[in-house]
Amino acid sequence: MTDGQVRLVLATANAHKVREFERLLPGVTVEPIGSTVVLPAETGETYAENALGKARAAAAQTGKTAIADDSGIEAEVLGGKPGIRSARFAGEDATDEANLALLEELVPQGGKLEYVCSIALVDPSTGVEKIFEARCAGTMSATRSGNGGFGYDPVFVPDDLGSSLTMADLADGQKDQISHRGKAARMLTDFLP
Ligand code: IMP
Repeated sequence: MTDGQVRLVLATANAHKVREFERLLPGVTVEPIGSTVVLPAETGETYAENALGKARAAAAQTGKTAIADDSGIEAEVLGGKPGIRSARFAGEDATDEANLALLEELVPQGGKLEYVCSIALVDPSTGVEKIFEARCAGTMSATRSGNGGFGYDPVFVPDDLGSSLTMADLADGQKDQISHRGKAARMLTDFLP
């Protein structure tokens, strides 16, 4: 953050997240981590711990300010699961499709859902570490709908819209306005110089 242009290394291998962050952080140069950076396993008990672990690793290995996010979906009927295990809900190497199918099997239509996103920022030159966390409430749809977004979006009906559209029915900009990641990214933007 020295030449007036904010540059952040994004500690993720998830191409969907890279695209969302490039959209969500206008005016920020989002750098991919590169293939040599090794990110730790997600062994934390909270979204924040997992995000911080990834951001710390990327900052330490690149010497640059890094951000990472950890996110998930919580189903009320499952006592908040899958939560931090959302990416591995149907098994260690589960696909998005397998995870989505399992959620559909276990959560009835209208069941309460919540997306959560925790973004960690680590600046190795100052030692500053920050967490920005936000949620997006919704319900389980009757059927899958939409081609946008990723992961659980085809069955997630956000409360904010007051309609039966799913997150995957929305244009990118509409999702960003109400999504957990959009809200957390705006908190991060407010913090940046
Ligand atoms: P992680 O943050 O890489 O551990 O993975 C988050 C998990 O939650 C993945 O399975 C995603 O599919 C899911 N997830 C997180 N954010 C979203 C979203 O905005 N839409 C759909 N699924 C999401």
